[in-house]
Amino acid sequence: MAIQKKTLIIGAGVTGLSFANRLLELGKTRPEEILILEQADEPGGYCRSIKKSGFVWDYAGHFFHFRHPHVHNWLKERMPDVTLRHVEKISQIYIDGHTIDFPFQKNIHQLPREQFIECLSDLYAVSKSDTAQSHHSFEARMRAQLGDGIVDLFLKPYNEKLYACDINTLDEHAMGRFLPQTSFEEVMAHMQAPDNSSYNGTFSYPLEGAYSYIEALCRDIPAECLRLNTQLTTIQADEKYVVFDGERIDYDNLISTMPLPRLAAAVGYPASYKDLTWNAVEVLNIGFDKPSKDNMHWVYYPEHHVPFYRVGFYDNIHDSDRMSLYIEYGRPSGQSTNPQHLLEQTLVALKDVGVVDDHRLVDWAYVKMDPAYVHLRPDTEVLKHQVHNWLRQRDILSCGRYGQWRYCSIEDNIIEAWALADELDIKSV
Ligand SMILES: Cc1cc2nc3c(=O)[nH]c(=O)nc-3n(C[C@H](O)[C@H](O)[C@H](O)COP(=O)(O)OP(=O)(O)OC[C@H]3O[C@@H](n4cnc5c(N)ncnc54)[C@H](O)[C@@H]3O)c2cc1C
Repeated sequence: MAIQKKTLIIGAGVTGLSFANRLLELGKTRPEEILILEQADEPGGYCRSIKKSGFVWDYAGHFFHFRHPHVHNWLKERMPDVTLRHVEKISQIYIDGHTIDFPFQKNIHQLPREQFIECLSDLYAVSKSDTAQSHHSFEARMRAQLGDGIVDLFLKPYNEKLYACDINTLDEHAMGRFLPQTSFEEVMAHMQAPDNSSYNGTFSYPLEGAYSYIEALCRDIPAECLRLNTQLTTIQADEKYVVFDGERIDYDNLISTMPLPRLAAAVGYPASYKDLTWNAVEVLNIGFDKPSKDNMHWVYYPEHHVPFYRVGFYDNIHDSDRMSLYIEYGRPSGQSTNPQHLLEQTLVALKDVGVVDDHRLVDWAYVKMDPAYVHLRPDTEVLKHQVHNWLRQRDILSCGRYGQWRYCSIEDNIIEAWALADELDIKSV
């Protein structure tokens, strides 16, 4: 006999768990009327942690900048025993053997003289341009706003490594609020009175890893609402049921947090969605036997001859005496790598850039995130809306970082999920 659920949620990441929490909190549904299906063997999605040989690593560098105190307070109330570090962020950019403070565009006076003059004069040349004007690509917008010097030295190579694509094909707003802005006047003022506080804000981090936030999100969700190790591949959207492991579940509302192109395939969406593309991020977490040399929290590496785009230092957050790194690589989706080879190549590169000297490797873990960053192209919004509308007509809501197909933080996911749960008109079964 088919099981009936008012609300079926695909994915127990931050979004799926936040959505379930809110529905239960509002009393819109009873625990027995809701089911979350998760393909992995634990909840959390990308907000998960790995513990090995005394090191705590996340899937990728995950640090939390909550802009809405009520969201963070809600989480903190559900994790009273967790120690949270509030850290003043220290991040830098490494180019050609030199480091300069992040954000690059505001600290160009720290570059060698010739590069500084080039960046400054190019920034001046565009300083009177109309910032409201639209541009045909992400690269074109950056060039028009910040000048060629800043783009060629940092923004272009860095974003090419991160997104693993031609950034000229990305929409001008591909990074939204995550791209730090500046102006000629601001750079000049900053040279006289350096102040990175507006960019280098604080972040919070649970000492036991990002997964503490997932434990907080799981606290009020009864175990019977969550089914792990269950991957959904086919959805009968018109008849509103799913089948897996020979079992059929009828639903009223389906909330999906799986990647939008995979959802489109699972429901048999009749039009093309192949232009929704993305990159993958490979992460090596590596623990060593002695402390790191600097007090950095993370460093960006824009140069193409350095294989990774970012290295982060957990030990400088934990105040631990063993260097603990996450190292991130942007890749085209679907590309496979041998983790052992990647480790060997990485240890050599870490020596070259001066992160490692006579440190000895203690342990390591490899993670692949595919999708990681979505490629927002000029036609992505239109395509996304077409798919979303088609789904909505069948009572399927696609949400979360990959359901909404956007660049966002876990706080954005929580806010979005709560708002959707508030709006949802739950029909009775
Ligand atoms: C490299 C990187 C660094 C980041 N750093 C930060 C940071 O510092 N701070 C921050 O706030 N955010 C950061 N983020 C963003 C943050 O990780 C995401 O916004 C958040 O985890 C997304 O949650 P979600 O629930 O929407 O999606 P996901 O975490 O992807 O969860 C979706 C869940 O659905 C499950 N699922 C998918 N398909 C199926 C299926 N067919 N059947 C069953 N289950 C399925 C998945 O297993 C997963 O558990 C980062 C992201 C990346 C990629």
